[in-house]
Amino acid sequence: MKKRRVVVLGATGSIGESAAKVARDIPGRMEIVGMSANRNLEKLAVQAAEFQPPALCVTDETRLPELRGMLTYRPEIYAGEEGLVALATRPEADMVLIAIVGTGGLRPALAAIEAGKDIAVASKEILVMAGEIIMAAARRKGVNVLPVDSEHNAIFQCLENREPAEVRRLILTASGGPFRKTPAAQLADVTPADALKHPTWQMGAKITIDSATLFNKGLEMIEARWLFDVEMARVEVVVHPQSIVHSMVEFIDGSVLAQLSHSDMCFPIQYAVTWPQRIANSLRPLDFASVARLEFEAPRYADFPALDLARRAGETGGALPAVMNAANEIAVEAFLCGKIAFPRIWGVVRQVMDEHRSVAREGLDAILMADSQARARAAELL
Ligand code: NDP
Repeated sequence: MKKRRVVVLGATGSIGESAAKVARDIPGRMEIVGMSANRNLEKLAVQAAEFQPPALCVTDETRLPELRGMLTYRPEIYAGEEGLVALATRPEADMVLIAIVGTGGLRPALAAIEAGKDIAVASKEILVMAGEIIMAAARRKGVNVLPVDSEHNAIFQCLENREPAEVRRLILTASGGPFRKTPAAQLADVTPADALKHPTWQMGAKITIDSATLFNKGLEMIEARWLFDVEMARVEVVVHPQSIVHSMVEFIDGSVLAQLSHSDMCFPIQYAVTWPQRIANSLRPLDFASVARLEFEAPRYADFPALDLARRAGETGGALPAVMNAANEIAVEAFLCGKIAFPRIWGVVRQVMDEHRSVAREGLDAILMADSQARARAAELL
């Protein structure tokens, strides 16, 4: 099997770092041929020195000379959204890992597909926003969309190309986040620092807050709907505090398959890169005796409305998932800056969703317009 030449969009983030670990661990099977960063040029320069990719991209064009000065070799350096598209379509790449937080990876992902490259998707926001469009483009071009989100990677492993008609339910596991046992009345008093203490995963700030509100699981329900072509009614959530079972598929014959491992994003990233093969690595194996217990419980739907809001968005379709996602991004930023209380996150998202008038099967332009209107409306409400 040949080596995968991978462009990593969002190389300096938590997923980007895990991708670098995988590339170090299986150098015969993964080579990083492009990297992008937003602000953290120091980290990008260190990573670039190690992997020497022929091309890099930064968000801000005015910082190009600064980055040049930090580098020990002379790669091509692109800037801005156009730069991300150029990086994602480089001829030497055969896979693009989308690990930019939020929706900034959408256009580069579509460009990579058009250029005939497989995409490995960590950025769930782009599938929530435009899952139907991305999957249709990938089918048309005959390229693969490989899920990196641990739950979807688990489902992908359980499904192994089975038909959607053989699936009774996709069961996404949720850790429950830091407030799994916090009484509803106390949620108004939690601080960003409390919400950033995830019990089982080390991740970027935005997804960690999403895990605390359960919007992360809500986004994942919609992500699963598009990735696996299964309608929302067959996508369920169960709380599993140990984060060892990453998700499950119940088939129509009643059998349930699950995928288990430690909570380390290197597992799903490696599987996306080496699929359809499995190859040996240095990751820590599971010791069932020390894990001891695997528990499951129902989510607290009434106290964490994100799940019901996401189900509504996914069932309604059109631009409503994009509206939900956009309002959530703005509300999370406001919460992280200390501007709003924690429950206000879903309060704002609900209000922006209630005000949106959705039309089914909207095109990309309508979705992008709804996204920016939702951001503006959420900002106004804050
Ligand atoms: P981080 O915040 O750790 O990293 C985000 C990356 O995106 C950084 O490289 C950052 O650059 C870059 N970035 C931020 N804003 C922009 C922008 N406007 N334009 C271009 N690049 C930008 O996030 P995570 O790695 O945690 O998450 C990335 C994505 O993966 C998210 O969509 C998340 O939901 C998803 N995901 C993450 C998991 C995890 O374990 N972390 C698990 C499953 C999914 P810089 O560092 O320079 O600011």
